[in-house]
Amino acid sequence: MSSVPLNSKDLKAQALRLGFAACGLAPAEPVQEWYARHFRKWLQLGLCADMEYMQRHIDMRLQPTLLHPGVKTIISVALNYMPSNQQPGISLYAQGKDYHDVMRQRLLSLMQEAGLQGRCFVDTAPVLERYWAWRTGIGEFCRNNLISIPGYGPTVFLGEIFAEQESDHYDLPICSPPQEYSGWESLCPALTPDGLDARLCLSYQTIENRGDLPADVQLRHTFYGCDRCLRACPQFKESHPTTEEAFQPSPELLNMQEEDWRSLTQEQYQSLFKGSAVKRAKYQGLIRNILNWKP
Ligand code: SF4
Repeated sequence: MSSVPLNSKDLKAQALRLGFAACGLAPAEPVQEWYARHFRKWLQLGLCADMEYMQRHIDMRLQPTLLHPGVKTIISVALNYMPSNQQPGISLYAQGKDYHDVMRQRLLSLMQEAGLQGRCFVDTAPVLERYWAWRTGIGEFCRNNLISIPGYGPTVFLGEIFAEQESDHYDLPICSPPQEYSGWESLCPALTPDGLDARLCLSYQTIENRGDLPADVQLRHTFYGCDRCLRACPQFKESHPTTEEAFQPSPELLNMQEEDWRSLTQEQYQSLFKGSAVKRAKYQGLIRNILNWKP
């Protein structure tokens, strides 16, 4: 490990050159108590539904050195995903290619260019990415539990690098911790004062739920994900189309009409969603959603 501290100014300039919308750095300290309390309560109340992976490695989520011993600096980045066009029924974030692949390649490029030692993560490890985006000062918490980036709004993907070097400068949050999450229950019952109740959230039901949809779930404006609280967020007005080609929908996807979805074959599904995040729902899950979809 190099003992020369990272030049944070150079690192941020490299990140912006690589297309990231924002980049911030924080010391690899334990997650602050206010957020740890909020996270534990969210789990205890069962708001994570049956996403059992959230219940695992809680200590690792709260203490970065348990996930990567030797980490000194957490680098958080955001990538704008707002597409210029949208196929109705599919969440904005899933219109193009799977963000995991795009973000990972971009993070690896940043690590290589900046000579960073450590590991990078994209939503696949026990990392509290929204907390770190807040802590590194790149964004603020919205009441819908998303992170909004100044100038880009909440339509961003987040990624992290756990670097083994210290930095010559660390960032501070740009706003205080949220005092409460209340006030959005009338928009959607999933937005509780204790955080997002995944059991009531259409994003969870249409993507993560592998069983039958609960009888009271109604799919009107969507059959994959949900953007209602994203679009209702006051910061959504700052969202603007990304220059990332990978996040744009293909002409084939844009051409799909309601009757095409109703008769979607497995072969069409494979071709339409090659390399897409929509594959997370699997063909059977997508068909289940489409059969329940009443636009
Ligand atoms: S994504 Fe949709 S269902 Fe989920 S909390 Fe937001 S508005 Fe509610």
